[in-house]
Amino acid sequence: MTEAPSPRASGRAWALWERLAQGRTDFGNPDVFFGSARIPDSLWVTFTVTDTGTEFSNQIAALTGSESGRGGLLTLKDSGWVLSLSVFHQPEIIGQPPGTTVWWGYGLYPDRNGDFVGKRMDQCTGAEILEETLRQLRFDKQLDAIMASSICVPCYMPYVNNIWLPRSRGNKPPPVPEGATNLGLIGQYVEVPREIAFTIECSARTAWEAIHRLLKRGPAPPPVYQGQYDPKALFDTLKVFAGIG
Ligand SMILES: Cc1cc2nc3c(=O)[nH]c(=O)nc-3n(C[C@H](O)[C@H](O)[C@H](O)COP(=O)(O)OP(=O)(O)OC[C@H]3O[C@@H](n4cnc5c(N)ncnc54)[C@H](O)[C@@H]3O)c2cc1C
Repeated sequence: MTEAPSPRASGRAWALWERLAQGRTDFGNPDVFFGSARIPDSLWVTFTVTDTGTEFSNQIAALTGSESGRGGLLTLKDSGWVLSLSVFHQPEIIGQPPGTTVWWGYGLYPDRNGDFVGKRMDQCTGAEILEETLRQLRFDKQLDAIMASSICVPCYMPYVNNIWLPRSRGNKPPPVPEGATNLGLIGQYVEVPREIAFTIECSARTAWEAIHRLLKRGPAPPPVYQGQYDPKALFDTLKVFAGIG
């Protein structure tokens, strides 16, 4: 509650990729995704709130018309930080004590000033981030009670968005680089055609693909689902855009 999220030193996994890619174009280009020049376009500040009271859950249920934990991601699109909130179906955490609620949020523009606390999100303490969020929700009357029963822990995520930065063919290596016989690459920075970056499915597929290609064991991964050619998905999408879904 009392500290702003602090940047941590850059990761060793990235350093390993840099070494692998040095002088080897088959291993992609980590600099497209990592390094200080990328942070302004890929930084989010997230925050996790643990609440021992019921006021927040009750107010969210009243505001959204959905029982707390059964609604979708809630985006406060006019907030300076462009905050989104996810109120989980409880309990969210294994071993979470009864009577506690855990919810989570993030700001897409942590370098902008909040509308109420008047500071950049990445310079705000957990308490200030929680206050800004509650004021954005117009929970002013309940603010003191919610603040008193909550702990808000902010987290600085410099590269969360880098998966979506512009890239070119070859910037991500394939699951098995050309000629490799004993090395597979897995995770978000591996190219798998048509798969949707950022998803858990995408990471799982890279591992499946690498194992299948290298060890020639087990079935090949199934084709990637192509929603844009699925008449039912297209019809459902159309209904949402037409406001009848
Ligand atoms: C805020 C946020 C929200 C998300 N929401 C969704 C969502 O709704 N749906 C969705 O599909 N995806 C979502 N994602 C993306 C998803 O979480 C990731 O794509 C996925 O977890 C990547 O899986 P991974 O196994 O490739 O990597 P990771 O889950 O990052 O796993 C890598 C593991 O390796 C460990 N590690 C690193 N270095 C070493 C080392 N040297 N030795 C040993 N271990 C090491 C790490 O500790 C980590 O546990 C979200 C991601 C974030 C950050």
